[in-house]
Amino acid sequence: MCPKIYKPIHDTNTITYETLLQGNKQFVEETLKEDPDYFTKLASGQTPPVLWIGCADSRVPANQITNTSPGEIFVHRNIANMVIHSDMNMLSVLDYAVNVLRVKHVIVTGHYGCGGVMAAMSNQQFGLIDNWLRHIKDVYRLHASKLDQIKDEKERAAKLVEYNVVENVYNLCKTSIVQNAWQNGQELGVHGWVYSIETGIIKDMNVSTYDNANMGNVFKFK
Ligand SMILES: [Zn+2]
Repeated sequence: MCPKIYKPIHDTNTITYETLLQGNKQFVEETLKEDPDYFTKLASGQTPPVLWIGCADSRVPANQITNTSPGEIFVHRNIANMVIHSDMNMLSVLDYAVNVLRVKHVIVTGHYGCGGVMAAMSNQQFGLIDNWLRHIKDVYRLHASKLDQIKDEKERAAKLVEYNVVENVYNLCKTSIVQNAWQNGQELGVHGWVYSIETGIIKDMNVSTYDNANMGNVFKFK
């Protein structure tokens, strides 16, 4: 089935619990009209070649912005597309994607105007989420000499979004899951992208990594 061109966004006040269920009926009807076997085929299993680690932001849905369909991307999303070493949810998704689904690519996708990154840049307290955002503050600290020179706040946030993606690509490479895959000769690329909500365009951060050759020695597993 060809992906659809995206409809104009609704007034979110008109979206209710009921309209979502009506929308589902419409989705099933329209899909079956186009391909009566669509769901039967989809139900037979999944072999997505990509794991997507993206932001939970409602404006950055993996399938739509890459023109892909259900079954084509395995998705994990959290606030500010983080790869935190003690996050069992992320680690379980990564392990399943790499060792069971055997995806060929893992892509960390951040986006400009990320609320999580902007919150991390501020000195305000937000509650529980401060513990999550602190990891972004650590990324800031690593690049503080460059970031502090950027006077425009929007520009500084955009740069931190980029650094955060690069750092999380590196965090993925540090995991035993990714390093064991490489050591076993599994074809696996780890990549970093930044999406612009304003233009719809994805910027490749050109940090694609296919082995642990350039990794800091202390992180390398034998
Ligand atoms: Zn975000």
